[in-house]
Amino acid sequence: MFPLDLQLSLIPGTVRSALFLWGMLLVRGAVVTVIATLLCNTRWARRRAVVQGAISSSQLRKELVAALGVVAVDAVVIALVLHAQLLETISASPTLDGALWVTASFALMFVWFEIWFYATHRLFHTRALFWMHRTHHVARVTQPLSALSFSILERLVLLAGTVGAAVLVNRFVPVSLRGLEIYLWLNYILNVAAHSNVELTPRAFGRSLLGAVFIGTSFHSLHHVRLIGHYGLFVRVIDRALGTEFSDYETVREQAARGESGLSAAVVERPGGVE
Ligand SMILES: [Zn+2]
Ligand SMILES: [Zn+2]
Repeated sequence: MFPLDLQLSLIPGTVRSALFLWGMLLVRGAVVTVIATLLCNTRWARRRAVVQGAISSSQLRKELVAALGVVAVDAVVIALVLHAQLLETISASPTLDGALWVTASFALMFVWFEIWFYATHRLFHTRALFWMHRTHHVARVTQPLSALSFSILERLVLLAGTVGAAVLVNRFVPVSLRGLEIYLWLNYILNVAAHSNVELTPRAFGRSLLGAVFIGTSFHSLHHVRLIGHYGLFVRVIDRALGTEFSDYETVREQAARGESGLSAAVVERPGGVE
């Protein structure tokens, strides 16, 4: 037996799972962040930058520290959920891994989390709760690493909306573990895209049905610059319905897609970051 195996066998199961998950999530975060950052620095991407401005070394350091905490929290929470067998019924039945169940679970998770995110994000921007969300707004100009930069408390609220909700729903209707896994992966990748500060949608996106429902990168970039408004995650429909969408969003998005964005990181619509 190798010394490491011996050590691991002496560690309780949950701790071992958390350490293993922590390592896996750390590697995933590092690989995705490095690749995305390299892609964001290509000439094509730099031309489509939404917010003009540099990322300071202090921002980089703060986001790196926050990301390490977030990855550790994710690992501990997922290990505890798996160890308590809270999601066990999900993969127990082969019929529940059929394409229909996977798709239904994914779709349910997508729609539910858009609502959960909007509501909690808007609450985080109130005077009473902004302290919990301040870590994420270290970034005025965002970068792929910003997708992992949250306070521990905010991350727990986000996990409550994904893993917590799946565990709760699973008590009444079995949820597909694969559907949840696919959602969590997509959530992370789309979050990296939303924080890339590179307008990834084509010029005509705003005139399409997809553009009427889903956001372009500029949507979330504007949230980081102005702080008030654009509380939605990947869809703009809730912000539009509740009057929190900026009237110039489409103009900013199109300008960035043309490589002509003039948005400065110094422009703040209302100071303070709270409603
Ligand atoms: Zn953000
Ligand atoms: Zn915010």
